[in-house]
Amino acid sequence: MICPSCGSRQVGYLPGNRFYCWGCFVQFVIGDTRIEVYEVDEDGTLVSVNRAVPESMTATPGR
Ligand SMILES: [Zn+2]
Repeated sequence: MICPSCGSRQVGYLPGNRFYCWGCFVQFVIGDTRIEVYEVDEDGTLVSVNRAVPESMTATPGR
């Protein structure tokens, strides 16, 4: 499995057909026709990221 957001192979499996990327800290769910990507907010809330991500935004923001 490769992260659809950053291309990292550092992907962990979660229950419910979900995956977590240790490279860019997103969760994603493999659907029948597409991959849903969620950012994890600071308080743990999942924020759906259905928009296309510009290449300039794929770098991990400074934390
Ligand atoms: Zn990633």
